[in-house]
Order: sequence, then C-alpha cells, then structure tokens
Amino acid sequence: MSSENPTVSRRTFLTGSTAAAVAATAGCLGSSNQLAKASSATNREVVHGNCWICRAECGQEITVEDGRAINLTGVDGHPKASAGQDRDGTLCSKGMAQLEKTYNPNRITRPHVRKDGELTAVSWDEAVEYAAEKLAAFHREHGPERLLRYQGYPIAKHPWHNLLFKNLYGAPLKVGRKTTCHGPFSTSWEWMSGYGREWPDWQNSEYMIAWGRNVMECFRGQYEPKAILDATENNDATLVCIDPRYTKTAQKADKWIPIKPRTDGALALSMGNVIIEEDLYDEEFVENHTHGFEAYREAVEDKTPEWAAAITGVDADNIREIARGFADAAPSSVVLPWTGLTFQQNGFKNCQNVHALNGLVGNIDREGGTRQWQSASLADPHEKYDLDVPSNHKDNPNPAEYDDYPFQKHGIRNVSHNLVPRAVRDGHIKGMVSNWSSPPKSGNTQEWLEAIEEMELVIIVDAFWDSDSKRADVVFPGASQLEQPFLKAGGDSSYSTKTWVTGSKAAIDPIGGCKPDYQIYKLLAETLAEKMDTDWEKYFRWESGEAYWDDQLDAIDMSFDELDTQSFAIVSDLEYEQWKSDDGESDFDTVNGKFNFDLDVVEKYAELAEEMGASTAPEWHPPDDEHYGETTDDDYPLLYNDVFVEQINRGHDQAIGRSVKAYQARYDMEDQGYGGNLLHINPEDAAKRGIQSGDMVRIESIDDEIELMAHVYEGIRPGRVASLSGFGETSSHPDGAGANTMILNRERHVEPVTGMTVRNHPVEVEKTGGEN
Ligand code: SF4
Repeated sequence: MSSENPTVSRRTFLTGSTAAAVAATAGCLGSSNQLAKASSATNREVVHGNCWICRAECGQEITVEDGRAINLTGVDGHPKASAGQDRDGTLCSKGMAQLEKTYNPNRITRPHVRKDGELTAVSWDEAVEYAAEKLAAFHREHGPERLLRYQGYPIAKHPWHNLLFKNLYGAPLKVGRKTTCHGPFSTSWEWMSGYGREWPDWQNSEYMIAWGRNVMECFRGQYEPKAILDATENNDATLVCIDPRYTKTAQKADKWIPIKPRTDGALALSMGNVIIEEDLYDEEFVENHTHGFEAYREAVEDKTPEWAAAITGVDADNIREIARGFADAAPSSVVLPWTGLTFQQNGFKNCQNVHALNGLVGNIDREGGTRQWQSASLADPHEKYDLDVPSNHKDNPNPAEYDDYPFQKHGIRNVSHNLVPRAVRDGHIKGMVSNWSSPPKSGNTQEWLEAIEEMELVIIVDAFWDSDSKRADVVFPGASQLEQPFLKAGGDSSYSTKTWVTGSKAAIDPIGGCKPDYQIYKLLAETLAEKMDTDWEKYFRWESGEAYWDDQLDAIDMSFDELDTQSFAIVSDLEYEQWKSDDGESDFDTVNGKFNFDLDVVEKYAELAEEMGASTAPEWHPPDDEHYGETTDDDYPLLYNDVFVEQINRGHDQAIGRSVKAYQARYDMEDQGYGGNLLHINPEDAAKRGIQSGDMVRIESIDDEIELMAHVYEGIRPGRVASLSGFGETSSHPDGAGANTMILNRERHVEPVTGMTVRNHPVEVEKTGGEN
C-alpha cells in the first residue's frame, strides 16, 4: 500500500519582498518575515499550510525539499497558532504529526472497490463509475433518506460533501460531532444564549474556570493555552481547574478541584446559591436581559455549599471562595464546561447549571467573559454564477417510524451516533457516505461494526485502513493535510475583536493516487449527474478548491494566491455585546430574544422534560436517577471514564505513533515496549488489587472487557480510572496497540436529551498476568 515517491512541488520560492508587498496590500499582520527565512537552496522552499487535524486551522510553515515536506513550524502572529500580533506561532504534537501521517506506509494511496467480496485497488475512473452507479441505484431503490452522511474530522467543514450528498442527492440524515463530542454543552448553550458555544475571551479574562476540560492540552488552536498563560501573567488572572484528574491544566491552575465524578451540576448550583445569596450577581443584566431567573433562584435556594460539599467532595469554603472570585471579577470572568461534563448521562443538566453561572454574572459577550465570536463574511461562489443550489433534503427527516427511538421524536437531533446500528437493523438506514471519520471508535463499537457489514452501500473518503474503511464498498484515498488546499474564515482566536481568514495551497503534490476532497466530490458529482440524468455537475463548475475559494474571497477583495502568500489576514473589527440591539434592548438569537435560565420557552425541550419528569430550569440530577445512568456497586466498584479530547487522540484518521511516544514518556512508561493507551489508576485502588505500573490489567464492565497496561499515579481520584480513546484494533494505528475503549459502550449509553455518547462505566479492574 505504500508510496513514498512525492513528485517535485509545483510551487516556487516566494521571496520575502514579494510576500511583504502582498501583505501590505491585504492587511496581513505577520508572516512575511517567516517566508524570508526560506533557505536559498534551489530545491528547498518554505510555504504555508493550515493544520486542520482538530479543525482549529493553526497556520503552518512547511519546509519542502525536493518536493518532500521535511519540517513544520507555526506561523508568527497567526490567530490560531500564536497568542496574537508579533507573537511566536507553534503547532501541537497532532499538528506536528502531519509529516508522519503524510508519509506513513499504512496510508491508502489508491481507490478501492469491493469485487467478489474483496476490496480491490482500481483506477480512479473505475472507482468513481462504480460509486456513482451504486449511488444512483440506491437512490432509485431506497430514496436518499436511507443514506446516512457521517462527518468527522478534519475537513468536514468544507462544503462539498454536504453540497453533493445533502443539497443535491438529498440525504437528510447526518451524524456530526454533536452526538459524539459536545451536544449537551452546545445545545444547552444555544438554547440559553442563542450562540453555538461559549468560547471564552481568555486573553482578557481575570478569572477563568476550566470545568471538565484539560484546556492546556485540548485546545482549538495553540492560542488557547498561550492566552490563558498570558492572562495569568498580564491580568494577574486566576485559573481554576475542576476535574477529577490532575491534568496539565490542573498543574497550571491556582486551584485544582478534584470533584467527585458526575456531581458537577450540584457544585454549579451551589455556586449560584452563593452568588445570589450574597447579592454578587449582575442585577441589571438579569433584570433586563434574561428569562427564568425566578425559577433559577428557586432551584438554588437550598443548594448551599454545605449541601454540595456532601455530594461533590469539594470543601464548602472552597466553593464559596470560587463563587466569590468568579462573581467579583465579572464580567471579565468565565466558566467553560466541556467534554468532562458532556460525556455524563446527566450531562445536559450539568451543562445548563454551569452555563447559568455565566448568565448570572452577566459576562455574556463582554471583555474577558464569554464571547460571541464571528467569522468574516465570505462570498457565496454559487451566487456569483447565478447558481441557485437546491435543497433536495428534507430539513428534519424525523419520520414517524423514528418515534419510538429515544430522543428522536422531539427533533432535538435527527439521529444519534449510538442509535445508527439500530436504525440499520430496522431498515431505516441502508447506506453511508463517510467523510474523514471512524464511527466504530466513537461509540457502540460492536454494533457499529455489524451495521457497517450490513449496510448495502458504504463509501468512504479517508487516509488509513481501519475498521470502517476495511469494510467499505468504495474507498477513496483522501489527500493529507499537507496535500490539500484550505480556507477558513474566523471564529475564536487570539484576536478577540477582529475577524480574520486563513488559507493555503497544498504544500506538496498528493502521493500515489490520493486526491484533494474537492476533486473527489467534483468527479463523483459529474459522474452521478450522468447516471441520474441531472445537472449537478454545474454546482462543481470550478477546476479546483483553490478556484472555488478564490471566488469566496471576492467579498474581502483578496485572491487565494494572496492569502496563501501571507497565511492569514485580519478582515474587520468585532464589537462586544452583540446581543444588544442599537437601542440597548436584549436581542439574543433565542426564541424570546433573552438569555434563558429556564428553557420552558424551548418547546421541543419542554416536551421532553415533561416526559422525563425533569424541570426546564437548572436542576440537580444525581447520577443514579432513573434516567441518568449506571453507578458503581460491589461487583463494579470503579468508575471508568474515557478521555477523548487530548493532544494525543481525537485523530480519527491520523498516524499516532509520534504522539504515543510523547504520551508514554510523560508518564515514564516509554521503556515498557508498549504502544497503546494506558489505564490510569490511583495507588489506593491499585494496591487493593496488587497492581503496579506496567502490569497488564483487564477492565471489565457489565457488558464487555478490554485489556490495557496500568499506570499507577496520584493524579486521579480513588474510585476513578481513566484511559485515552482512539487506540486498538479498530484504529488506524498500524499494529493496533492498546484498546478501543468504546468496546465497553452500548446503544443505551447516551445522554437522554441530546443522544450524546456517554463515556462513563462502572467497572472492575484486575491484573491479567498477560504479556504486553
Ligand atoms: S491545535 Fe494542533 S491539531 Fe489542532 S489545528 Fe492546531 S496544530 Fe493542528
């Protein structure tokens, strides 16, 4: 499968002066100096790229020699890769691993189709013809609503997968990241504030609470940890880390709160109690711009720090101190919940309770608080050519037959990741087009593997052979990050009050037969148009992704060439308090224009809450509540948690060897000759079981078991064990080392409001005596 014959790059060396001139015309804040660093060697050049492995799009400088990428660094001043103007840019270990990924011998470098039951390498023409024929037949026989769109990282934000399969082909069903990563957090925030996610204005903050998020490692760009460290230094800001594990963030924090797992909602309510009881909240904001404060006040009335201390294991004085510190610094204070909360079965309520604290102190879209980040507006390339893109999908499929599926009937999500296998068994889903993802690593593994086998058509764009690409009918070899062009506008960054764009051409030519995403979807659209007698090819009228983006950049009077030359450009100013109308009234993008403590105004949630006997206001749901999950007992006395978003993992389709080495080294385990994920266990729990670091151990739940190497350390609470996801035989890791932790996960392990995969399981751990 391997191909390591990169051809000579098409690019020519850009001189520093050329880059500087272009930068001056387009308002670039930095990077021409970087290009000037390029070697004078004729066969060596330094070009720009954008890492999209976690979708943060950090700007890269890529040294290319004889057509081969040999080194990567960050771009100084880049909104995602640096702490801002004139600051150094860097890349994280996942970003650095792009070299390893590109030249990995396990890459898929030719298209494959299934012939006589075997995946067989074929030409592009044959693969596209085969896929289009199958897709046309599928549409005739089953209709597009039986075809699932599965979107993973990294390039899912690019429009072409959606354009072809949603707008044109008409497939309405999608699994995105909301049911595998952040649904409870983002859905609750959206209903409360009208904005997708409450990314902090870190660099201007004075009091930062990272709650269930290892923000020094799980970042959306290098700017996040840098901004936090800047805030602690420049603003004398306080950093509080609430997490059962002693993470990198805990190490850097002023205060580490090793909360008892799954009790976060109780802690948040008690902080609300202190802030209201002591009149520390923002009365003007609460009175004029919010809905449901009385219901919230009632919910926290008896939730004193003493009450919460008994539940959470956090000292009552500590709770008071954090609540006061957070409220005193407001509005330049922020609390951010993340996957540590969303992966819990009571995750939605826990997130709602935490979000309410931000509303209470009025830090919404204010300097140093939460931020309603906006992107620079780009042009719609289709409009330029009077192309009215159809919407052949139904907006909300939610067919009546889905009514007996949990969550679906209220239309909160149209399909949950863990429920896909059931929908396949029931005949509601019969095929899948998957873009850069690996579903069996995201939940309900065993059933997902069976479901993929059972589907009539599986088409995959990816870079590695793993459990789903090996079972597909068609596999298209996607170009790696270094081999693809990229464009992205805006979002959270080190420029709190600016919008920006970042973009770059491919740094090297794709190896073997790999193609950039645009070329793959263009080829498919053209052939599918012939088969289905449509005019869909006209919606892919551009020769390349670069040409499409060139038209998008018309809106800011910039060409894609110019953007590539300078890596990024600052576009416009971004005000705070965007939720305020010109006359000072609240104009949140919510159903009632207010910030909502109480979600009784959200009809679909109110119906579901009534069925569950839950309140629409903030509320404490213990983890052993009938709707909220499984708890430890004598047979399974330890609570296992799967850690998802850290530097080492989350790369569904990337080579991870380099990151694994760093991971093992961090815990002094690099001499064990073991390349998998580790089970982190407290010495107290390990001693009871005769376990030492380096022992192989079995982790058994009521459903299944996995085997991992133990790492014994104090950095995790007694009673809690944890490991990283993304390993094992269903991963792209060449030797499949470690375990796919989602083997312990089943259909029922979902958060009941948003259908999000839950990653907590009661387990027992024992030494196996096995060799690693
Ligand atoms: S944070 Fe790391 S993985 Fe994410 S885009 Fe930046 S360099 Fe890549």
